[in-house]
Amino acid sequence: MCFRPPSAAKAVKCTSCGMLNPPTLEKCKKCGVDMPKAKDETKEK
Ligand SMILES: [Zn+2]
Repeated sequence: MCFRPPSAAKAVKCTSCGMLNPPTLEKCKKCGVDMPKAKDETKEK
């Protein structure tokens, strides 16, 4: 049997280092690069 925490089910792969981060993180916990979001609602500059 495989028990996985719900947070790990939808891990987002860092485009920079390949680290799998939970979707709740805005930045990679390993290299600190901005994580791509599914919804592009942040268009403030
Ligand atoms: Zn990274």
